[in-house]
Amino acid sequence: MAPRPEPKPIAYPTLSVDARSTPESRPEQAALEYNSLQAQEEICKNYVAIRAADPQMERKWTFAQAYSDAGFSGGTLERPALKRLLADIEAGKIDVIVAYKIDRISRSISQFYEVWKHLETHHVDFASATQELNTATSQGKLMLNLLLSFAQYERELIGERTRDKIAAARKNGRWCGGKPILGYDIDKEKNRLVVNEAEARIVRDLFQIYLEEGSLLRALKVVNEKGYRTKQWVTSTGRKNGGHTFDKVTLNRVLLNPAYLGKVRHLDQLYPGQHDAIVAPELFESVRKVLGDHHKPHATTGLDHDYLLRGLVRCGACGRAMTPSSAMGRNQKKYFYYLCTRAIREGASSCPVRRVSAPAVEKLAFDRLRQLVSSETMVAAIVKVAAREAAERSPQLCEERDRLEGELRKRREEAKRLVDAIASGASSAGMLSERLREAEAAIKAVEARIARVSAEAARLQAKSEGPDRVRGALGRFTELWQSVPRKSRAGLMRLLVPP
Ligand SMILES: [Zn+2]
Repeated sequence: MAPRPEPKPIAYPTLSVDARSTPESRPEQAALEYNSLQAQEEICKNYVAIRAADPQMERKWTFAQAYSDAGFSGGTLERPALKRLLADIEAGKIDVIVAYKIDRISRSISQFYEVWKHLETHHVDFASATQELNTATSQGKLMLNLLLSFAQYERELIGERTRDKIAAARKNGRWCGGKPILGYDIDKEKNRLVVNEAEARIVRDLFQIYLEEGSLLRALKVVNEKGYRTKQWVTSTGRKNGGHTFDKVTLNRVLLNPAYLGKVRHLDQLYPGQHDAIVAPELFESVRKVLGDHHKPHATTGLDHDYLLRGLVRCGACGRAMTPSSAMGRNQKKYFYYLCTRAIREGASSCPVRRVSAPAVEKLAFDRLRQLVSSETMVAAIVKVAAREAAERSPQLCEERDRLEGELRKRREEAKRLVDAIASGASSAGMLSERLREAEAAIKAVEARIARVSAEAARLQAKSEGPDRVRGALGRFTELWQSVPRKSRAGLMRLLVPP
């Protein structure tokens, strides 16, 4: 067999400073970004140089090429250099990709997962120059596997395309599902709201009562005395829903719902709906003004804080869900909380806990999670998974190696025939030697593939070796966590701590 080809690692930094600003609109931003790209590339090259000089390395790394997408964000895979990189991977030109950080390939773990699948198919390793994620080592590969198992969450739950469809429908004023609302029935065939006259009268009365009483609590008293109930409906599975007495939240929701104006809301925009209004604009507007004076909406500050435990925190005193919130302190410092929903609905005096500091409770949860993840049960579970993976993948690898070696023999015979033909001085030697060059290139490519398959088999072997390696990787849970893009962390938390 020919000597093993030198691996060809690739530095692949992409942007960037701020995905929202495009280089065209802000030249100084472009300059900044350029510098940052260069710096990232330098760091990747250094990373490669260190491995090239490391006498411990079984295979010396050499730098091949940089792929850099200036002006693109890691939020999309539609980037020219990235596409070129993927094509070069397919052509077998690359052994290792070195990225400045994992999110330079993609900000979304699920997208990164797509790229990673591609790398795996072609036996290409991935290393991050600033994170301990080098898949050429079994520990790094294990970390990456852990990370990627989180991708499942994102792919299954986020459903980008579904969201886009809903957005388009809303902009057309169509009803897009969700809970039925008081005052309307749902025409399932036409997917729109139709006025339910009896309920519509109640809705108008609710607005009137609030306007007369001027406060939610006083209005609530009247509303419940009159025996009004929230919307009642039967689900498709035959379950009865709603029909409760009103509380602050449900009444408030009615009074602020733009559907009663015949409109449909998408994000912060209102669009004309395909249904009829049941509340006069003047009435709606005057109620909204009074409410606006009293009512500051909660949970509108998600951008400032990640709220890792969104949907997971329960109030210790009353067992109700707690919801993200924030407040501005006297010194203009912003504070982040989880608020007890009972305190929101029934007033601050109804719950002794009321609110907890978000950073404090998140740290607590994170520490607990880290403990949990490095427990022996977890280690054992991971070793088991690794062993199973090895058992499944090893036969595939053997098969592929056999197939590749068969192909190699064929290519070599072809090359030999060509050499013989040239030697015998037969027809056009120029064309024959051209074909010989092609055959030799093909032989090299197949040999490179065989080397990669063998390397993967060796790694699988190492990974299923035992718990010590797993323990080592899990011990660096904090680091692993930091390599998860911020916007994915809350979802990851939900995956690890089911509500
Ligand atoms: Zn509470």
